[in-house]
Amino acid sequence: SMSCIFCKIVAGEIPADILYQDDDVMCFRDVAPQAPTHLLVIPKKHIGSIVELEQSDTEIAGKILVTATKMAVQDGVSESGYRVAMNCGDEGGQTVGHIHMHVLGGRQMGWPPG
Ligand code: AMP
Repeated sequence: SMSCIFCKIVAGEIPADILYQDDDVMCFRDVAPQAPTHLLVIPKKHIGSIVELEQSDTEIAGKILVTATKMAVQDGVSESGYRVAMNCGDEGGQTVGHIHMHVLGGRQMGWPPG
């Protein structure tokens, strides 16, 4: 989508601290980190929200999670522990309308999240 900020990162039109990408997914650091490690894993394809996921997205949805695991290992939080999160819709706290999985670590997480 032309107006989507994460599509613009995928297209190289705005900068990001990109840690990994392949044909399907990209991982970059969150611009406003909420923990020492705060990464975002996104599909390169525009999908607005997890509520829009369809059966045909099963592979990309799984790849997002597996990539998050690889990135947590790479960023050094896998042994201490970390959290993945996907916010959906207004009350879910979603602010960017392109699917993203947060990878948060490097500090003690609380539960429930706010
Ligand atoms: P959410 O609130 O779950 O939709 O998360 C959106 C996340 O994207 C927030 O944590 C923002 O800090 C982050 N974010 C917004 N714009 C950018 C950007 N240009 N580069 C990196 N992260 C961003």
